[in-house]
Amino acid sequence: MSDELGAHVSAEGGVQNCPSRATDIEAKCIQLFTKQAQRWNEPTLNKDTIIQFLDERESHALDFVGAHDSYLINLSSPNSESWEKSRESFQAELERSTSLQLDFVVTHPGNATEISANKPENNERRQGLKDAQTEMGRVQKKIDATSDDSAKAQLKEEKKLIEIKRKELLEFGGDLQRGIELNALGITSALEAVPKGTKVLLELTAGSGTSIGGNFEYLAKIREFIPLALKDRVGFCFDTCHGYSAGYDLVDDYDGVWNQFDSILGIENLGLIHMNDSQHPFLSHKDRHQNIGDGSLGKGPFRKIMTDPRLNRVPKILETPKGGDPVVSDMHNLSLLRSFRK
Ligand SMILES: [Zn+2]
Ligand SMILES: [Zn+2]
Repeated sequence: MSDELGAHVSAEGGVQNCPSRATDIEAKCIQLFTKQAQRWNEPTLNKDTIIQFLDERESHALDFVGAHDSYLINLSSPNSESWEKSRESFQAELERSTSLQLDFVVTHPGNATEISANKPENNERRQGLKDAQTEMGRVQKKIDATSDDSAKAQLKEEKKLIEIKRKELLEFGGDLQRGIELNALGITSALEAVPKGTKVLLELTAGSGTSIGGNFEYLAKIREFIPLALKDRVGFCFDTCHGYSAGYDLVDDYDGVWNQFDSILGIENLGLIHMNDSQHPFLSHKDRHQNIGDGSLGKGPFRKIMTDPRLNRVPKILETPKGGDPVVSDMHNLSLLRSFRK
């Protein structure tokens, strides 16, 4: 079947094995890791692997192939040593992705960890952030316990107000601004070093702790700092699980979320959607993916995404739990998503 749907597939045995794994799940779009995502080791791909990968991609007629960067990279780190390490690692990601002629590499914007560093002047702020998190958990419990729709709506509003307070605490001191600038600087440097090819997609994260990827405004600011000549190589990835956890209410305010996306980031800059349900409730700031329809998002938002003409052209990739058999679970989620179009 040829549509814009696909999944993250394993690169076990080498990236050249990925294209056939797309065919196994009847998809034309995949995402992969070009290295072990939990390690700093930066392998360079040899010529044979690259040629084999390109042949395989062609014979399986794939429409979109992209990579996800290593989870260790933190281009917002205030520590110059770890920032430099992240910058080098990200550049290596972009080099490997470009040599494989990938369409995109997705990156998490990282954490401006200065706030959580052990500085006494930040004690109050850290306590405030903790309190906000506890308070949100308390309100969520009430939401779960009530079956009255208007009470639910009121509690959701209450949760949003706590979130505004939490954001104010995060913005205090300009650490965040610095994290955003550092992130843009790291991406710019990698794009300059690898002049052609693969696009970089900044992924919306669940916005936990001092993460700078948890809202549209921060993502927009990162892109603002990218020099004009490189801007067309930088777009965005919307992860449905992260978005819902970060406070974008795809369940009760689907159109509102996309209107906001369009006005802050520009829908034309949306390069990818990660299709994941979530194990945690709205505004939890937690990042635990769930199979489509089995989590707190439920089927509703995915049905809307699949039938939304604005999102037709955008590749949609699953990062749902693989269970015992990755082919079986990916096929299950993909056929459910496809059924929403019938
Ligand atoms: Zn994702
Ligand atoms: Zn995630």
